Amino acid sequence: MKTSQALYEKAVAVLPAGVNSPVRAFRSVGGTPIFMERGEGAYLVDVDGNRYLDFCGSWGPLVLGHRHPRVTAAIEDVVSRGWTFGTPVAEEVALAEMVVDKLRAVEMVRFVNSGTEAVMSAIRLARGCTGRDRVLKFRGCYHGHVDYLLVDAGSGLATFGTASSAGVPEAFARLTATMPLNDPAGLAQLFESLGGELAAVVIEGVPANNGLLVQTPEYVAQLRELCDRYGCLLIFDEVLSGFRMPKVMAYEQYGVSPDLITMGKVIGGGMPVGAYGGRAEIMQRIAPLGDVYQAGTLSGNPVAMAAGYATLREYYESDVPGRIEELGGHLDRGMQDALSSVAEMGYLRQGSLFWLYFHRDEAPRAAEDISGQGAEVYARLHRFMLEHSIYLAPSSYEVGFLNTAMTEADLDRFVEVLRAAVKEGL
Ligand code: PLP
Repeated sequence: MKTSQALYEKAVAVLPAGVNSPVRAFRSVGGTPIFMERGEGAYLVDVDGNRYLDFCGSWGPLVLGHRHPRVTAAIEDVVSRGWTFGTPVAEEVALAEMVVDKLRAVEMVRFVNSGTEAVMSAIRLARGCTGRDRVLKFRGCYHGHVDYLLVDAGSGLATFGTASSAGVPEAFARLTATMPLNDPAGLAQLFESLGGELAAVVIEGVPANNGLLVQTPEYVAQLRELCDRYGCLLIFDEVLSGFRMPKVMAYEQYGVSPDLITMGKVIGGGMPVGAYGGRAEIMQRIAPLGDVYQAGTLSGNPVAMAAGYATLREYYESDVPGRIEELGGHLDRGMQDALSSVAEMGYLRQGSLFWLYFHRDEAPRAAEDISGQGAEVYARLHRFMLEHSIYLAPSSYEVGFLNTAMTEADLDRFVEVLRAAVKEGL
């Protein structure tokens, strides 16, 4: 680890904690982050030449694994012609048509550069359409680092045990109501007192930033019904869950019709892309057609659009959801067997997302159901996995990502290493 360690020492002098996104810093698992040099299918290779089976997958975009040939070719083709023009390009039309054609909830789409931007813009649009300011979000859901959504957020913030961020004006935070997930009675009550003031309710398609907090279809249906009754928009944040579910999107999984959805990660194939979309009458309120302003120097840039388009074409043409269910089923069987004797650890999977949870008999459905989340056990497990060439996300609150470059043999090896960890008493 010599080169990685040397890079880290240089990095901390010039980058806060040596990173550009907090959870990468390994703060909750200890040790120093590993600098990676290459991706090869299901594997990462670090700057010292060590190879790891990669369950982090760049936090979600790489549903086909690293450097899929089709995506590589698409990127190279664009780069050979130039990589940003600040004009409309064919690649953005192709990706938009694909999204509109495939996703029932999307009649029109606008591309941005990150998931954060997508959610921020969708909420601005909802506020513009309803003339209301307040939004409701759920504790444990993460929607990016927008001021008024850093209120009881999950992800890195939960890892650091902070409910909110310094630098967020109280006035902004007050526009955001928060409540626990999976609380039907509380939801009805909140709408009774506040429903008429809400521009939007935003919920992660499948909450996956504070562990995997799968909601019941009844709860999601109740949410849709209350939004309709009180005239506020339902935004499904599918930045993480999108293209990761057996039915592609979480809203299809629940059979619900959101007014707007937000996307990111997979839709850019590993390039910086976000998107928001929904019914045309809503989307037509965006400038320059309408009065809701939103813009971006690099939005819809051809490299990112081509990477996303190549990824989605491959996704649909090679039935990625089908293959993921095969791989996932295989992993489920291995994990259930490996953990059968371990009372304090559980395993959950939804599509290509999986999660190890600690100290509970039942799968949690709300952030309040989790405390500590086995931080110390996970830190030991994380180290053990690294020593056995497996790269897990450096926080017990984060999910693992499957991709189609993985094989059954890769998953068997993961299960074997977990079994060995359990045997060693972690
Ligand atoms: N929404 C969800 C559900 C996410 O998981 C994330 C990031 O993990 C975001 C929004 C923010 O996306 P980005 O990190 O691309 O800004």
